[in-house]
Amino acid sequence: MSERLSRLRERLDEPLLVSNPFNVRYLTGFASSNAALLVEDERVRLFSDFRYREAARGVPGVELVETRRDLFGHLAELLAGRIGFEVGHLTYARYEALTEAGLGLVPRTGLVEGLREVKDEGELGLIARAAAITDEAYALLAREPFVGRSERELAWRMATFLHELGADGPAFESIVASGPNAALPHARPTGRRIGVSETVIVDAGCTVDGYNSDCTRTFATGELGPELARAYDVCLRAQTAGLSAVVPGVLGASVDAEARSLIQAEELGESFGHGLGHGLGLEVHEAPWLNPEKESMLAAGNVVTVEPGIYLPGLGGVRIEDLVIVRDAGPEVLSGFSKELMVVG
Ligand code: ZN
Ligand code: ZN
Repeated sequence: MSERLSRLRERLDEPLLVSNPFNVRYLTGFASSNAALLVEDERVRLFSDFRYREAARGVPGVELVETRRDLFGHLAELLAGRIGFEVGHLTYARYEALTEAGLGLVPRTGLVEGLREVKDEGELGLIARAAAITDEAYALLAREPFVGRSERELAWRMATFLHELGADGPAFESIVASGPNAALPHARPTGRRIGVSETVIVDAGCTVDGYNSDCTRTFATGELGPELARAYDVCLRAQTAGLSAVVPGVLGASVDAEARSLIQAEELGESFGHGLGHGLGLEVHEAPWLNPEKESMLAAGNVVTVEPGIYLPGLGGVRIEDLVIVRDAGPEVLSGFSKELMVVG
């Protein structure tokens, strides 16, 4: 029985059907798009179909049960009794199939996610590696010409750098947002050609052995007008304030408030419409949350982003995002690429 599985078992009131693939991977090391785990007192069964037979055989401490491709249909025939299920993952169709077969399903939330919030040194090492690759990719990107190229072209360059530097893949589709597009917090790269004296927000990350990184920098293509220059200055000060507030035992909402109040004091509060940051690990967005609308408490071993943004419609935007480990000794920032405003060509 792995340590992670025994810690999960201590939290259970009844057997738990783990169906979130990230949770299955966390508990067993087994990565599959079609697998589930039933954690009981006496045993742990891993269900998956024949495509994963060879890989699943290597998983220690579990009994492997080969199912049909219709895994949940098959589970409905195999399982009985009272079983907890993951409300955030099991679809309603699957829930119905299992209850119609007579299972007593008990809704459970965040049992494995709660364990995943606190990373061990092995996990932290992988995230640090992903962050270091991302730093190197930013250094290469900063040497590229920006002006006259499309956002899509630069996003593709970023993805290429991440691959060439040894990442398993991008953590998400890189964002490159220039000029007025930089005022959209969730911009997707477009065919827009980057102009002079604009801000360009680049948000990118990569994956190493299943663990992710996430980093945002804002570049300038020449001297910025006073509003954008000021926005950069305020955003950087807020980001630094947010980082220093990342300590064990503090509420995520309080860290958010540290950075947000600074932006509000500059009367730019309306321009910062998203949460300050999110946890990161096997998923790019996971608990804990640095967000006024979510309940989270930071603990040593958490990994979170700190990413305030200031978005000025029609004009441009600024976002600065670092990845940081919550440590008893204070925040350990993993993102190393410079945060001084960098002028690119
Ligand atoms: Zn990001
Ligand atoms: Zn992020």
